Amino acid sequence: MSNIHNVAIIGAGAAGLMAAEILSQTKNIQVTVFDAMPSAGRKILMAGKGGLNISHAENFSTFVTRYGSQTNNLLPYLNAFTPTDLREWLNNLGIETFVGSSGRIFPKEMKAAPFLRAWLHRLRSNGVQFSMRHRWLGWQNDSNQLLFDTQNSHEIFCADAVILALGGGSWAKLGSTGEWVSILREKGMNVEMLQPSNCGFNVTWRDYFKQHFSGEPLKNISLTFDDFHKKGEAMLTENGIEGGLIYAASAKIRDHISTNGNAIIHLDLFPDKTVSELLAKLNKPRGKLSVAKFLRNQLKLDGVKAGLVREVLSIEELNSPELVAQTLKALPLNLLSPRPIDEAISSAGGISFDELNDNLMCKKLAGVFCAGEMLDWEAPTGGYLLTACFATGRAAGLGALKWLK
Ligand SMILES: Cc1cc2nc3c(=O)[nH]c(=O)nc-3n(C[C@H](O)[C@H](O)[C@H](O)COP(=O)(O)OP(=O)(O)OC[C@H]3O[C@@H](n4cnc5c(N)ncnc54)[C@H](O)[C@@H]3O)c2cc1C
Repeated sequence: MSNIHNVAIIGAGAAGLMAAEILSQTKNIQVTVFDAMPSAGRKILMAGKGGLNISHAENFSTFVTRYGSQTNNLLPYLNAFTPTDLREWLNNLGIETFVGSSGRIFPKEMKAAPFLRAWLHRLRSNGVQFSMRHRWLGWQNDSNQLLFDTQNSHEIFCADAVILALGGGSWAKLGSTGEWVSILREKGMNVEMLQPSNCGFNVTWRDYFKQHFSGEPLKNISLTFDDFHKKGEAMLTENGIEGGLIYAASAKIRDHISTNGNAIIHLDLFPDKTVSELLAKLNKPRGKLSVAKFLRNQLKLDGVKAGLVREVLSIEELNSPELVAQTLKALPLNLLSPRPIDEAISSAGGISFDELNDNLMCKKLAGVFCAGEMLDWEAPTGGYLLTACFATGRAAGLGALKWLK
């Protein structure tokens, strides 16, 4: 390559910044990162509030299965940038990581800001330019000129290659508005509808329950839905239920609701006890105690768990030890619909892999590459989301390099 090539990266999130990192290492490439927001990496910073779970240390062959039906599509990029590579890369940036007891990988400081600061500093030192408050509107008059809204005016940028890393459709206030969907569909690209992933669900609670228990954590429970069975925690909200355990099953539940109109999940409120163990306690004479006091005395059942049992059983049913024991082990909850995509941790759907070549370049748009959450894949929480964003960002950067050569 003799001339200077201009590469536009649109989207200053995990995927876009990783593409910038790759491209900025080549001398005759000028990288400009555009973003609609005033500053870069807002979602990374938000993820930092939970300690920035950057990846997962489980066996790599298990790790890749977390991407479900899209495992094969993502595999080449994950193989080329594994969780171990990601840890090394962070280490090279001066960010030490550790593996938590659950296998999740975090920066030692459990914060995103030092990592983002160091990364942006390195990118700037490598010559990457940032054009913030530039909202991409598409291409000017069907040419290859990129059109941006810069608040007071419109700006045009001519690039030799473009990397789109515009994110999914959740948490729009952090920048990922999903506006790009219509722009790419107009270009004839197949973009699967963006849907909530790792999301909560609506449940119709009675007023009393809502007033007393919304915001309460539901600890040490297990959830069963279809072939999903896992222990964990959830959180009751005014509108329904959310939290780690619910997110883990959310893709399955969302798809079931979309076909069947609702989904009944079962919560085990005593995962460490059997029905017979519970029955042995519930069959003891109650004397003059109220049901509530009896349950508290025998099983330490109170607060939100007791509230849930009262939510699903009538007063008469509460007098049946068998029914109470069965309900404590498999409390049915009718989930009506997913919470809005804006509240979800991530989104499913996006650009179909059929639209992209192996280097993540759009088959219908030569020189335009795509990466990150805007591609059609989803994964549970646990560091899988960021890892795939970094891996596809890197692949798109390398793809653009190859294309420019
Ligand atoms: C609360 C929360 C916690 C999370 N915690 C974790 C976690 O611990 N571990 C994990 O793996 N994942 C986590 N995630 C998910 C993870 O943060 C995302 O999957 C990932 O950051 C997405 O990266 P991305 O680069 O694809 O998109 P984004 O980070 O969303 O970046 C897209 C960028 O594109 C810009 N953009 C969009 N449209 C335009 C436009 N038209 N013009 C110009 N710019 C535009 C946006 O402003 C944004 O900066 C969390 C998400 C949330 C919401």
